[in-house]
Amino acid sequence: MTPERAALWERLGEEFDLLVIGGGATGAGVLWEATLRGLKAALVEAGDFASGTSSRSTKLLHGGVRYLELALRRLDRRQLRLVVDALRERKVVMGLAPHLARPLRLLTPLFRPLEVPYYWTGLRLYDLLAGGRRLGASRYASPREVRALFPDLPPTLGGVLYWDGQFLDYRLNLALVLSALARGAVALNHAEATGFLLRGGRVQGAVVRDRLMGREREVWAKAVVNAAGPQADRVRRLLDPALPPLLTPSSGAHLVLDYPLEVGLLLPRTRDGRVLFLLPYGGRALLGTTDLPAPPTPCPLPQEAEVQYLLEEVRPYLGDLSGRVRAAWSGLRPLVGQGETRFLVRDHLVREERGLYTLVGGKWTTFRLMALDLVERVAADLGWRLPPSSSHRTPLLGVGPRPPLPEGVGERLYAHYGALAAQVLALGERPLLPGRPYLEGEVVWAVRRELAAKPLDVLARRLGLAFLDGEAAAEALPRVAHLMAPLLGWNEEKKEALLEEARRALPGLC
Ligand SMILES: Cc1cc2nc3c(=O)[nH]c(=O)nc-3n(C[C@H](O)[C@H](O)[C@H](O)COP(=O)(O)OP(=O)(O)OC[C@H]3O[C@@H](n4cnc5c(N)ncnc54)[C@H](O)[C@@H]3O)c2cc1C
Repeated sequence: MTPERAALWERLGEEFDLLVIGGGATGAGVLWEATLRGLKAALVEAGDFASGTSSRSTKLLHGGVRYLELALRRLDRRQLRLVVDALRERKVVMGLAPHLARPLRLLTPLFRPLEVPYYWTGLRLYDLLAGGRRLGASRYASPREVRALFPDLPPTLGGVLYWDGQFLDYRLNLALVLSALARGAVALNHAEATGFLLRGGRVQGAVVRDRLMGREREVWAKAVVNAAGPQADRVRRLLDPALPPLLTPSSGAHLVLDYPLEVGLLLPRTRDGRVLFLLPYGGRALLGTTDLPAPPTPCPLPQEAEVQYLLEEVRPYLGDLSGRVRAAWSGLRPLVGQGETRFLVRDHLVREERGLYTLVGGKWTTFRLMALDLVERVAADLGWRLPPSSSHRTPLLGVGPRPPLPEGVGERLYAHYGALAAQVLALGERPLLPGRPYLEGEVVWAVRRELAAKPLDVLARRLGLAFLDGEAAAEALPRVAHLMAPLLGWNEEKKEALLEEARRALPGLC
């Protein structure tokens, strides 16, 4: 254990204004918002930060082209409101950590004459709804331009090029947590809430178990937030096993393909009436996603049927890509409501039950609006007067001028650590794997500065390698464990046990 982790565990003994259960986008967003508003806040995460849904998203900051289509077809004002909010929020989020996000051009190919006015009008409306916060103007691309961008596509009638935002979800999640820590909040991963503490019949804290050390402690707070994502109903039932469910979890699988791209591709009509994205991602392509009802397991695995579905759907456009799969992973959407998951509105919900505030649903793109809503609701209920929110304009840790960095590794390092990249580099320039831009210094940084405690914390949610290439991650595991061992005080036996655990956990990335 590092001294930082020991100190954070001790600090959980203090009394807080707010205790957040769950360290995904929702919980990390609440921790950051609460901290900026002057509240004394703590967060506990059962696994690693972002180890749930929040590292398994399509990584788009977007209003959602499909949700706009659904809103218009079904004349659904709530859906339309969500699209407009998300379209505007994507630019705000991009400004909070510019090194972690960028505008991305996407192409919708057109194959039938009627599609030309339909998608052109739809995507112009998408621009208009973003108002002054649009990222760029949509435009028609000629068949020749489409062929130059995607030579494997069958002949088209051209396409529509439009803009959305793309971001590194696991790093943004971490940046929110670390930024809050830097301003005095407490946050601990591998720390699970196992029960609630009540005073006068109201929730005033939680029992927290340190899953690394096996110890337990009581954490007291004036209000407790359940931000457990797909597990939120399970957490509510720690309070009252009879509570009816709020969520219908749905699984979404992604494949990472050896298919380098510059521009994203939106395939607007799958057999089940959804859209598919093929997006540039770490020099490869990210293909997703599916939408199937699924149990709320902590480490969902992509089902073979989901992998086949994705390959089948993309085949008419780009041919057989089955030999190019380098990684596959799956995440669970915490969808609010009951019914067919592809039609459930991606809106969020705040539900208060005996002083436990559950915040669920929403999207990564709207995490800040969700956090605002939650903090203001708690403040109103408890009679707190808070200063106005500044989360729309407060940069996150790592924002700053790009330091001089060597070619080859520099781009990836800046995209992960921003202005702190030179400090990471100074800890060790030796590559973790020959010819790959992942450095040994990153492992040391992850343990010392980013609360990584297990090999997969490092390989997945600090370096991102495990999401891009399962085989390479497996190859790097022993070296990562070797570098972590002295920093965390592991003897040979402990190191081997953690290595074995990591090998077993690698397919589910937990
Ligand atoms: C396939 C897919 C693609 C998506 N793509 C996009 C996209 O491109 N853009 C977008 O805006 N949104 C997207 N989303 C939605 C977005 O990813 C989610 O809305 C968001 O990540 C949910 O975050 P969360 O914090 O609520 O849940 P999670 O990230 O799952 O976090 C909940 C956390 O709570 C922890 N936890 C559970 N129980 C306990 C306990 N007892 N004690 C302590 N901790 C506990 C879990 O370990 C977990 O880490 C996508 C979702 C999916 C599934």
